[in-house]
Amino acid sequence: MNASQALLTVLMRYAESHMEKDTVIPKSEVREKQLTFVPVTHAKLEEMFCKSKRCPVYGGYVGDGKLYIDSQLDDSTYSQSIVLHEIVHYLQDLSGKYGKDCQSWYQNEKEAYAIQNQWLYEQGVFKQAGMGFMRTARCE
Ligand SMILES: [Zn+2]
Repeated sequence: MNASQALLTVLMRYAESHMEKDTVIPKSEVREKQLTFVPVTHAKLEEMFCKSKRCPVYGGYVGDGKLYIDSQLDDSTYSQSIVLHEIVHYLQDLSGKYGKDCQSWYQNEKEAYAIQNQWLYEQGVFKQAGMGFMRTARCE
């Protein structure tokens, strides 16, 4: 897929308005300029996020304003929700609200999946994301 600037803007506004109310995010002109959409191969995503093992990863954010998205994704609403999920991570990063420890990671994912699923629901897509994560992710 290739996300237009218009789509990124819509998803960013949606993400912002659904994040926790005490999250402080820079003004829209700033954050939209800093955000870069980077289509990459699935193999590259596995290399980056799954130690080169096969895994169902379709997007990722590592903290430099770049959204890495699987270039094989179609333009469906579900694919767009994956971009939304990564935008939530981008805004979490900008807000500086969370640290890098496991609890923070867990809270970040919970929030990103909740917003992604809310958006899917509102778009009439009754498929939910992150069920595997919710079942298995734990911090010791
Ligand atoms: Zn995530």
